[in-house]
Amino acid sequence: MDLNQASQEQLQQWQAQLQQEFENFKTQGLQLDITRGKPSSSQLDLSNQLDGILGGDYNSANGTDVRNYGGLDGLPEMKQLGAEILSVPQDMILVGGNSSLTLMFQAMMQAYFFGYAGAESAWQNQGTVKFLCPVPGYDRHFAICEHFGIDMLTVPMNDDGPDMDQAEAMIKADPSIKGMWCVPKYSNPTGTVYSAETIERIAKLGAIAGEGFRVFWDNAYVLHDLNTDAPALPSIADYCQRHGTEDSVLQFASTSKVSFAGAGVAFMAASPANLAAFKKTLSIASIGPDKVNQLRHTKLFPNMASLKAHMAKHAELLRPRFDVVLQQLQDAFGDNDLGQWQSAEGGYFVSFDTRPGLAKRVVELAAEAGVKLTPAGATYPYGNDPENRNIRIAPSVPKVEEVDLAMQVFVCAVKLASVEQALA
Ligand code: PLP
Repeated sequence: MDLNQASQEQLQQWQAQLQQEFENFKTQGLQLDITRGKPSSSQLDLSNQLDGILGGDYNSANGTDVRNYGGLDGLPEMKQLGAEILSVPQDMILVGGNSSLTLMFQAMMQAYFFGYAGAESAWQNQGTVKFLCPVPGYDRHFAICEHFGIDMLTVPMNDDGPDMDQAEAMIKADPSIKGMWCVPKYSNPTGTVYSAETIERIAKLGAIAGEGFRVFWDNAYVLHDLNTDAPALPSIADYCQRHGTEDSVLQFASTSKVSFAGAGVAFMAASPANLAAFKKTLSIASIGPDKVNQLRHTKLFPNMASLKAHMAKHAELLRPRFDVVLQQLQDAFGDNDLGQWQSAEGGYFVSFDTRPGLAKRVVELAAEAGVKLTPAGATYPYGNDPENRNIRIAPSVPKVEEVDLAMQVFVCAVKLASVEQALA
């Protein structure tokens, strides 16, 4: 389908055919949802052993009764696992509750209201606060910024991570830029893996920016390879140490899409100074985290090898779903310019760009035919995709056949919207 060369008659003929195809989908009464990046029930089943795994023994390795209060920053054996996941020394780790997003919110609150280097360093005392947001990105990161009244500035995402020439230039020119969001491995939604060079440049931002600058390094998909031969991500903490910028990066991860999304364990990794400030506030808010769940997780995942074997089982369930998405996109758009996408090697998403101006229409058409897509614009700050072209596809939850059907509808919607535009 080459819309650039087609005559008016040809376009009208395609429109009629696509309209017919679309009406056929509508009569099927479909109810399919490829919106949120959640694990499927089969994936959750992989961790059902967590229930009862303690067998009545509530003592951690050092004899702590995990049922009681205390242990604000987590059990040592869980810190060890977090340290290996994030490639940092164990004393940089704090183990939280079930959600890394909550830790990110709390880390932002610390920076904004209390400061990491005393009250004077709190961003609220420093006028306008801005954050760099690589786009497309994760809507919940943007929601945190919006909640704190932090202005968001976008940076394009390249194949090897955020455009660092642009990020560095912006930071040099504007001292009110206090931080940056990063999802360094299998970025949400593009699936981008940051290169070693990009990671080192991000580690050096702390030396270019003013005092108090913090990168929020959300390594949500650090374990989520679809292929067994995926390379490990270089540790940003190592680069920070080399460049003397240890305080400029706060790291996060969790087992949400490893064990149970609603009952996993979250980690934060930070320098001693950052951790001390964070824990001071945390100690007012909590007498200690859910150590029972931490102990359960250390029994299910006694080491990295067991964790990796477990993730390989997730990959087996996810891969066919991604394959279907990518195959359908390749078949429909491999030889034309109606769409662009990146083939994800891991994570939970495929990011698709329509021709400019069409994302909202595609989402609307798909919804009419019973396929729910993430709202167009959600992958940009303030819900504003300036070119109205990015759509996030999340295929993990529906069955493979359902993903296939949803993608047939998606492809039809993209084609129909594109022909409509060409005729307008
Ligand atoms: N960070 C990213 C990039 C995500 O995509 C998600 C979930 O989709 C989260 C964080 C949520 O993490 P958690 O469940 O640990 O709060």
